[in-house]
Amino acid sequence: MHAEIVTTGTELLLGLIADTNSVYIARRLREIGLDLYYITSAGDNRERVAEVIETALNRSDIVITTGGLGPTVGDITREAVAQATGRELVFDPQLLASIEAYFKKRGRQMSENNRRQARIPAGAIPIENPVGTAPAFIVQDPRGIVISLPGVPREMEYLMTNAVIPYLRDKLGLGRVIKTRILKTCCIGESDLDARIADLEQSANPTVGLAAHPGQCEIRITAKADDEATADAMLDDIEARIRERIGDYIYGTDGDDLATVLLDTLRRRGLSIAAAEVGVGGLVSSWLTAADPQGEVFRGGWVLPIRHSWTLGGEGTVPLDDRQESLRLANAVCTVTGADVGLAVMNVGPEQTHMVAVHEDRVHRQTIPFRGHGSRSNAWTASLALGLVLQMCR
Ligand code: ATP
Repeated sequence: MHAEIVTTGTELLLGLIADTNSVYIARRLREIGLDLYYITSAGDNRERVAEVIETALNRSDIVITTGGLGPTVGDITREAVAQATGRELVFDPQLLASIEAYFKKRGRQMSENNRRQARIPAGAIPIENPVGTAPAFIVQDPRGIVISLPGVPREMEYLMTNAVIPYLRDKLGLGRVIKTRILKTCCIGESDLDARIADLEQSANPTVGLAAHPGQCEIRITAKADDEATADAMLDDIEARIRERIGDYIYGTDGDDLATVLLDTLRRRGLSIAAAEVGVGGLVSSWLTAADPQGEVFRGGWVLPIRHSWTLGGEGTVPLDDRQESLRLANAVCTVTGADVGLAVMNVGPEQTHMVAVHEDRVHRQTIPFRGHGSRSNAWTASLALGLVLQMCR
């Protein structure tokens, strides 16, 4: 059983408005566990809208349309649904009465063309619209169900909540819920991750999918079940199986962010951190400051655009190699700020960035390719640097 959305309105195709109705409907369908396979938009053209609805009916069980139910000749959804389902438009006196009541209640005069809105495809179930003038309707065709809603978001949302969702639940015996959980990883590439959990990604329910971000990767797990408790249990089970394989790389879930998780970890251990960044854009300091504006755990540090001879304040008599220099930088930022943990992230040329994290006598390091100065490259570097400290300190 699956659904499809058809939104109508030439203004959508001209890019004058965004199709927020589809976003809303998609979310509501997800809540009741009804799969959505397609979203199509068509302009205010009867033939084309009818064609899209017919295509939708031939491949989906439920077709939800929005828009085109107004009183003008340009509002063609009633005609298009009638055409696509091979019906006449018939006048519904009860709908007319509810439209008249809507105008009367507001002290407004109903215009003659509002009568058009009381015509619906023969045999359709009318849905009165107490928050607007455009009544909606449901056509139960042998191929599937067409539900036509007004385009005005407020009206559409009201009717979805009060008429369509209850109708779908009842009609389709839908009790199912869909729940999603996101596992957040860093310091492991998408392809490596994919290779380790490829078999789990084949699962139909729960589903497991990956989304890559610079230096981080999200694993989205989604379960469908008859009730929340069952869906949660399914998510717990698949999460445990994923953690068995790549648990070391998972730093959080759902809304967690890496800098906050790192600072919380350090805070729990009674540690503070300082960072020195050279030629990598300063995102590490920026993220840590945003997550700890009072500077309780993040003691600050240095953000330098490029490596200068004075970077370390050294005499420069004995040139150090890059690895020694980044270690000295990490120690220096600790000494100057009084922090317990020092992090140095240093671009050492067109090819490489060195990262060193120090805490007492422990040293963790890694060297990664330098990817340039763009915001994605900086985010990639900063994620790996924070991940390095997290691995050292947890
Ligand atoms: P009305 O009775 O007000 O004419 P209608 O059912 O005919 O309602 P439309 O005329 O197609 O609906 O759209 C009314 C308004 O609703 C549009 O001008 C637009 O602002 C908004 N709207 C229509 N479709 C969408 C959509 N898919 N996403 C967001 N807003 C929409």
